[in-house]
Amino acid sequence: MSESEARPSNFIRQIIDADLASGKHTSVHTRFPPEPNGYLHIGHAKSICLNFGIAQDYQGQCNLRFDDTNPEKEDIEYVESIKKDVNWLGFEWSGEICYSSNYFDQLYGYALELINKGLAYVDELTPEEMREYRGTLTEPGKPSPYRDRPVAENLAQFEKMKNGEVEEGKMSLRAKIDMASPFMVMRDPVLYRVRFATHHQTGDKWCIYPMYDFTHCISDALEGITHSLCTLEFQDNRRLYDWVLDNITIESQPRQYEFSRLNLEYTVMSKRKLNQLVTEQLVSGWDDPRMPTISGLRRRGFTAASIREFCQRIGVTKQDNTIEMSSLESCIRDDLNENAPRAMAVLDPVKLVIENFGDTEILTVGNHPNKPEMGEREVPFSRDLYIEREDFREEGNKKYKRLVLGKEVRLRGAYVIKAERVEKDADGKITTIFCTYDADTLGKNPEDGRKVKGVIHWVSAEKALPAEIRLYDRLFTVPNPGAAEDFASTINPDSLIVMNGFVEPSLAAAAPEHAFQFERMGYFCADNKDSSAEHLVFNRTVGLRDSWAKIAD
Ligand code: ATP
Ligand code: MG
Repeated sequence: MSESEARPSNFIRQIIDADLASGKHTSVHTRFPPEPNGYLHIGHAKSICLNFGIAQDYQGQCNLRFDDTNPEKEDIEYVESIKKDVNWLGFEWSGEICYSSNYFDQLYGYALELINKGLAYVDELTPEEMREYRGTLTEPGKPSPYRDRPVAENLAQFEKMKNGEVEEGKMSLRAKIDMASPFMVMRDPVLYRVRFATHHQTGDKWCIYPMYDFTHCISDALEGITHSLCTLEFQDNRRLYDWVLDNITIESQPRQYEFSRLNLEYTVMSKRKLNQLVTEQLVSGWDDPRMPTISGLRRRGFTAASIREFCQRIGVTKQDNTIEMSSLESCIRDDLNENAPRAMAVLDPVKLVIENFGDTEILTVGNHPNKPEMGEREVPFSRDLYIEREDFREEGNKKYKRLVLGKEVRLRGAYVIKAERVEKDADGKITTIFCTYDADTLGKNPEDGRKVKGVIHWVSAEKALPAEIRLYDRLFTVPNPGAAEDFASTINPDSLIVMNGFVEPSLAAAAPEHAFQFERMGYFCADNKDSSAEHLVFNRTVGLRDSWAKIAD
């Protein structure tokens, strides 16, 4: 796929252009700062494409930084999956991977600096009391009784916290800012809390952990980040970001800019909810092909290029909005329509016998209707075939352009056949369709001018390979499942339908994640976990058309 050559500008790029033009910065340094508490999702892809994309376009740098200050929720499994997903999306981070936990010593030093300047204190209010004291949006907070402790006492108490002499929840270090600030984040935010948790990077070295707002700005400054890009919910936190950097001795002054997060219809993006889907086994795992995770989309058959293109198309603004699932789907459809080789597979087979046909023939079929450079393949054609059950009717109508009893249809890449009679089982279900074929119609129309309009796909019953075919659809039945009281109750029961079908023999060699257009059925790829030579498994990436739009019409 051709990714749009010139990237559309956005307000962040305009800020960067101005900073470079004015000489405020001579180079650009961004970072992507995931918390390793879940797998990356399509929303993260927006942030990744923005941060790494800017670094690429401005010949700058982009760090991958694990924002790892919550040891209880984090895990090395997530660290590894995030690295893999960033690379798969096509990006390389600058230098070594960074961890906020690399800076725990420095962060501790800056905390001491704030205490010494009378700008931080050790509080002993319980978390509940702290909430009460904080006030509300309409009422100012009131000062904690510990707010005016002398510096020496604060230093001594903080030391105790660090040494493991204080129980969790009994003490915290707070910035001393303004309990009446209209910005709740400025009402003496907590900077450090006690947690007796083993950290995936620092082990048991620490039992106090810094909070996000204190950690993030300092990590940015230590790494020389110039433009720190985050989502809009951090808008108010920018005040704290600047306050911390203004009040400690640190050279670099990164600036934070906020953009709107990606929301997608028919899915959830909160890691807590995604985690719930996994732990309650409502999906098969983080990489279930119905998940909006990068690994799920990849397993489903999305290409990295299609995800980058999607991020390009949605752009970067400050307006909150929700993107239709169909715009993500059209990105992959556009990519695969161009680039996926064609193949034939029958998902719901019914036997078709061509009674006047002899031995199996090998037909040569093009891999792409408009791209001869994609080559040809051999497809065996035989007396016994499978076709799609829905492609035959005993009685048709004008709109039904497939096979009808007594009528003709073309088999894709092969001959014109005519349905002569059917055989049924005791329940009246058709078991076999008996046909005749016109030997003179391979690659050409009947000589006598008969018009044969319909074309259906098929596979050879003798040579085709059995395959499990997983038809995936949207995971939720409502556009905004996150808003439902119990989002799990809005799961689409038909989001996975398993078919036992047959695929043409060339698909024995289908590489995982490598997409094909199954003629007339959609885009499919071999599953990267469950498919093997003994048991082929294909996932439907997306249908040929937007079937949800059709329903809405
Ligand atoms: P959650 O709140 O669900 O845990 P998060 O936003 O805290 O998600 P992080 O791992 O902290 O997840 O996110 C890393 C980066 O990705 C942040 O800069 C964040 O702003 C960005 N990001 C996360 N979700 C989205 C989204 N839906 N759209 C755009 N950027 C996002
Ligand atoms: Mg976060």
